[in-house]
Amino acid sequence: MISIALDGPAGAGKSTVAKGVAKELGFIYVDTGALYRTVGLKFLREGYDTTLDCDIEAVLKTIEVDIKFIDGAQHVFLNGEDVSDEIRTPDASMMASAVSAKPPVRAFLLEMQRKLARENNVLMDGRDIGTVVLPNATLKFFVTATVEERATRRYKELCEKGMDVKYDDIYKDIETRDYNDSHREIAPLKPAEDSIMFDTTGNTLQESIDILLKMIKDRIN
Ligand code: C5P
Repeated sequence: MISIALDGPAGAGKSTVAKGVAKELGFIYVDTGALYRTVGLKFLREGYDTTLDCDIEAVLKTIEVDIKFIDGAQHVFLNGEDVSDEIRTPDASMMASAVSAKPPVRAFLLEMQRKLARENNVLMDGRDIGTVVLPNATLKFFVTATVEERATRRYKELCEKGMDVKYDDIYKDIETRDYNDSHREIAPLKPAEDSIMFDTTGNTLQESIDILLKMIKDRIN
């Protein structure tokens, strides 16, 4: 099986680029952020805030996360309910970042991610795929873009979905999540030593897809 790790900060364009590239390669695209968001959603629904002042292990025992591919698109399920849309709100983003700093949550989701890579050719998008989840991945990329560019993209994406959001809030959310993701003790966001850096600032989506596809094809053929 071929596994390609794609790590990088929030909004760097990983998911849209990866979806396009995975389609071209005939690989499964796995968005691991959606798994953390699903766990975060359960904590939100239970009424907890990002301080997570609760017995995390006890809440995890009440959670079953599933991932299914419907017409090639990933859907995530929380205790059998398809929550693929609900996990995209700004609140769910912040909660995903909060739960993802908790070791029991990372342990809870680890085997599921590895199993997907054992059974399929995958392009797996996350923060610690090349460093922790798939240290032996066939190829590893670290995808970045400036905070301004990432905030603008996320803002447009949410507006297109009809969400009522403010650019400044999105910008601050991205900065906070960058800080949290790269300063946490467990599996912090950082490039694997053997990862290839890919800065998407200024690229159109199609340009990024073409560049990444070429980098992959040059290396796996
Ligand atoms: O990728 P996305 O922005 O949807 O991820 C939501 C949050 O989940 C991130 O801010 C990060 O804190 C966390 N995450 C993680 N490890 C991953 C994927 C996501 O910690 N592999």
